[in-house]
Amino acid sequence: MTVYNFCAGPAKLPDEVMIKAQQEFRDWNNTGCSVMELSHRCKEYIAVYDAAVASLKKLLNLSDEYSVLFMHGGGRGQFAAVPMNLLNNGTANYFQTGSWSKAAVAEAQKFGNIENEIVTFNNELDQTQVKEFKDWNVKDNSAYVHYCPNETVDGIEIFETPSFDAPVVADLSSTILSRTMDINNFDLIYAGAQKNIGPSGVSVVVIKNELLARSDDKIPAILNYKLTAENGSMFNTPPTYAIYLAKLVFDWLLDKGGVEAQEKLNIAKAELLYKAIDDSNFYSNKVAPQNRSRMNVPFHLANPELDKLFLQQAELQGLVALKGHRIVGGMRASIYNAMPIEGVQTLVEFMKEFERTHG
Ligand SMILES: *Cc1c(COP(=O)(O)O)cnc(C)c1O
Repeated sequence: MTVYNFCAGPAKLPDEVMIKAQQEFRDWNNTGCSVMELSHRCKEYIAVYDAAVASLKKLLNLSDEYSVLFMHGGGRGQFAAVPMNLLNNGTANYFQTGSWSKAAVAEAQKFGNIENEIVTFNNELDQTQVKEFKDWNVKDNSAYVHYCPNETVDGIEIFETPSFDAPVVADLSSTILSRTMDINNFDLIYAGAQKNIGPSGVSVVVIKNELLARSDDKIPAILNYKLTAENGSMFNTPPTYAIYLAKLVFDWLLDKGGVEAQEKLNIAKAELLYKAIDDSNFYSNKVAPQNRSRMNVPFHLANPELDKLFLQQAELQGLVALKGHRIVGGMRASIYNAMPIEGVQTLVEFMKEFERTHG
């Protein structure tokens, strides 16, 4: 039986990538060693690292004005690194749309002045909707604006292109590489790898070079953007195997036509699932259509007493990790790049059958 893993993170990796990693697990490139056994300073590994950076630059269409950094500490590490590096005794604007942007505020407040504003509201249909950027209040001389374009827990995504009178910082942990995005509209983006890039243990930071000047020597070395950039992400030992796997994922995406081709597929997958939810009286999703996440689809059953049975029966069909986040409840299907459309089709068929027999 084919298993489709809908976990929100760490999430499913592409089958082709896993097979390749398995093939070269103990003997990488005829070295007789695993990639994870190579020194991060040897020329073979540096080549892997450089190729990972080059492939990501190609996928994101990055100009030379930006640096790519691979760092430790996951997405939450960046919740601290961003204010530590960029605040410089100023005030930053944080905008909340769900649990991750809220957690980013709590961390940033440890390091200085943070203005924060909740920018979601309930619309006339009682759906959660995000205000347009023009209605977000950015203070004069703000050190930067921080927001989360895709709220992994709440299933809320912002598709609008940012343009603020301050540097724009975005937590792209669960949406990076899922759709085309002009990175020139951002000054810093970051993403923990374990949603759409690779295994946990590494996070990707893309930073506009002119922001590097803000990093003070006094902040912890492994969170310092300037130091990390100057050392090619190798001030200390980076998560070498995780970076290698990320490189395989980047190359897999490039082979399949890059972000543009992937976006088409992601739109098709999300439409299929939301349509199944909207067409039924048994399943519901409470996010306004223009803010529905393409990556994380939360939904509730009309009768929550059936949740357990739904999960049990789904698992018997090979549909795993559909339980919703503990603070939202219900179900959540995470359908990142690595989830093939067949997985979504199988889920939709199962949902229809479950509704027919229990609805
Ligand atoms: C998963 C996630 C994080 C946290 O990542 P960790 O690597 O567990 O620290 C932060 N932001 C978003 C949007 C996420 O999806």
